[in-house]
Amino acid sequence: MAEAVIIDGKAFAANLRAEIAQKVSALKARGGPVPGLAVVQVGENPASQIYTRNKAKQTVEAGMQSFKHDLPAETSQEDLLALVDRLNHDANVHGILVQLPLPPQIDPNAVIDAIDPAKDVDGFNVVNVGCLVTGGEGMIPCTPLGCLMLLKDALGDLKGKRALVMGRSNIVGKPIAFLLLREHCTVTMAHSKTENLAEECRRADILIAATGQPRMVRGGWIKPGATVIDVGINRIETEDGKSKLVGDVAFDEALPVAGAITPVPGGVGPMTIACLLQNAFAAACRQTGFDPESF
Ligand code: NDP
Repeated sequence: MAEAVIIDGKAFAANLRAEIAQKVSALKARGGPVPGLAVVQVGENPASQIYTRNKAKQTVEAGMQSFKHDLPAETSQEDLLALVDRLNHDANVHGILVQLPLPPQIDPNAVIDAIDPAKDVDGFNVVNVGCLVTGGEGMIPCTPLGCLMLLKDALGDLKGKRALVMGRSNIVGKPIAFLLLREHCTVTMAHSKTENLAEECRRADILIAATGQPRMVRGGWIKPGATVIDVGINRIETEDGKSKLVGDVAFDEALPVAGAITPVPGGVGPMTIACLLQNAFAAACRQTGFDPESF
């Protein structure tokens, strides 16, 4: 069998960002607002700082306004909720993202649920989760949405396909499973207590790996020809004392077996911010009486 097609998430995301930039220009030309995205970070987690900086940079590159709020690590929950309330009522802010993880004195669910669901561009608020589960129109979490876009691009119609989602977190595994169900896949969810995981994997036409366990999915776990979406981002030490990023799938072993596969880096990762911009654009349209689908 031929080697798997490598799904180029980096190129896909670059095209998506360019499309969004065009739509933002068209919105302004029709008398609409400049979409505004507020990104809030509490504390100085270095990975979060890189993410929030990239989010702000790409927001501006797409022609939107970026409002960045960097708060000290000792910020109280009350003060963070007060900021969220101000942003909820700020007409120039159409999307609000509070970067996770938050320091221990703050309950992330209390903050997420305080965000106006219309501005919840991460799609983590219970109202948006409820819409996803019940089939209503809400904001879809960015990484799961990115996975779905790559899958549809690779496979077209997903109807009837057998999908296995490894990982059941609220921000990745569960929303991906519900999105695939909405596409009429037959969905199985696996997690750390799943028995015979390799066997479950071998039945899947679509395999989503979102466990945070480096190179856990071996080549022999993959059904020949399956489409593999590797969400994992894990930094591991190399033999020469340096470090590199790897996914949850042993990419080299998967390549001769899978039909298509996302690499790490350059697969799902770049899709997350592109989908965030898409959500922010759609939020700005809906809040100001424009149909995002009309662009
Ligand atoms: P979590 O740690 O919240 O969840 C991991 C899930 O994987 C849990 O449901 C856990 O099961 C399951 N799991 C852990 N070990 C095993 C195992 N040995 N076998 C089967 N299942 C297992 O992680 P996230 O969902 O937040 O993230 C998952 C991965 O995706 C990470 O590598 C993260 O870095 C990456 N990520 C990438 C993003 C991007 O591309 N932009 C965005 C977000 C995340 P249980 O519930 O039983 O504990």
